[in-house]
Amino acid sequence: AEEVGGGDKEVVREYFNNSGFQRWRKIYGETDEVNRVQKDIRLGHSQTVENVLKMLKDEGSLEGVSVCDAGCGTGCLAIPLAKEGAAVYASDISAAMVAEAEKQAKEQLQAGSEKEVVMPKFEVKDLESLNGKYDTVVCLDVLIHYPQSKADGMIAHLASLAENRLLLSFAPKTFYYDLLKRVGELFPGPSKATRAYLHAEADVERALKKVGWKIRKRGLITTQFYFARLIEAIPA
Ligand code: SAM
Repeated sequence: AEEVGGGDKEVVREYFNNSGFQRWRKIYGETDEVNRVQKDIRLGHSQTVENVLKMLKDEGSLEGVSVCDAGCGTGCLAIPLAKEGAAVYASDISAAMVAEAEKQAKEQLQAGSEKEVVMPKFEVKDLESLNGKYDTVVCLDVLIHYPQSKADGMIAHLASLAENRLLLSFAPKTFYYDLLKRVGELFPGPSKATRAYLHAEADVERALKKVGWKIRKRGLITTQFYFARLIEAIPA
């Protein structure tokens, strides 16, 4: 039923503008008001961000490189990318998330910074309606909200925006049983209005191949409650 009429996307938008926003703002923030599980997810996610920055910088300086951060959340990646000198375009389906990311960027990038940094350009937009061309496109921990049937189209669209590389992270299907344990914690509430979808690496690879892309680098980030496969794809 969740695939009828694009229902998933509306549910996801609603979640990330309300209870999901409150929850993830805490997890992605720095305050102590997180429980043990949330603290663990915070740690895993920060490792994903570090891995992404490393993968990107391994290929050379980010100074002046255009990067699209699709589904930017509170700006955990967009802000450090701007500090590296990248020209960042960051967007998210949730207006609440974008407002928080903008606030964080102002606090972290403007307040007494030694060197002049270019602010990311933020916009409320679902990734399906993004257009333009970027050197690099990054989409972290977003596919978990969509079934593979939708993820295929999202991956194809993201690849069409990228000139040189596309970085994606997703919850790999191999961790199914471990993930099951934390799904209840991730999406609490009687209706489980949003659910977590796992993706097989082979399916992601196939979706990339269909549009002429191949995987160049792979990373795996695991903590007790956080599992992410990180891939960097390039035109084949
Ligand atoms: N990428 C960020 C990070 O890693 O810090 C945020 C990850 S958070 C788990 C998922 C984010 O994806 C939320 O901010 C949500 O609003 C956003 N999102 C979900 N579906 C989206 C879509 N179709 N287009 C753009 N953003 C979307």
